[in-house]
Parts: sequence; C-alpha cells; structure tokens
Amino acid sequence: MSTVMTSITECDVTDCAYNKHNSCHTLAITVGGPEECPHCDTYVVGSHNGGIPDTRGGVGACKVSNCAHNAALECSAGRITVGWHMNHPDCKTFQAR
Ligand code: SF4
Repeated sequence: MSTVMTSITECDVTDCAYNKHNSCHTLAITVGGPEECPHCDTYVVGSHNGGIPDTRGGVGACKVSNCAHNAALECSAGRITVGWHMNHPDCKTFQAR
C-alpha cells in the first residue's frame, strides 16, 4: 500500500471555501458519503475563505470501499479530480470494482 497521499489535481466546485482557481487548498479531504457515494465530505460553503494558499489538496481518507482504487479505506489512485455530480461534489476518479 502506498504511503504517499493522493493529490487532487483539479476541483471545479468553485463555491467551496477551500477552492481557489479550480484547485483545492486544504491539506486533506475525506471522500465518502451515504450509500458509498464518492462525495467530497469536506465541501463547505461559508463567508470566509478556507485552506492554505500554497497547499494543494490531497485525499486523507476515503470511505468508498467499492472503488477499485480503495485499499483499506485509503486512496491508491495517486491523483484524483473532484467535480459536481447532480447537486453535490464527487470524486470523479471513482471506478466501481
Ligand atoms: S479514486 Fe476511489 S479510492 Fe480514490 S478518493 Fe476517489 S473514490 Fe476514493
């Protein structure tokens, strides 16, 4: 299992407090919502900007055990993208087993 954090190369959820110029700027997101949907559980809308400007986001944990890139609830994809799916942000790199 890789011990290098998977990076988020692009996120088009521009109303998230952690998003600047289609990039995620929190150290690590958590992926996985109800019914094993690959939601970004870190998504938040607020009046304040969040995150660290010089930081590119990564995947800290992923609860989507039915993804082919998931091993022991960690992401082994290396890099992912995040984007809208209907009315919520999802990991777009999700691949069903
Ligand atoms: S690629 Fe799969 S394992 Fe990685 S964050 Fe997305 S849903 Fe989770």
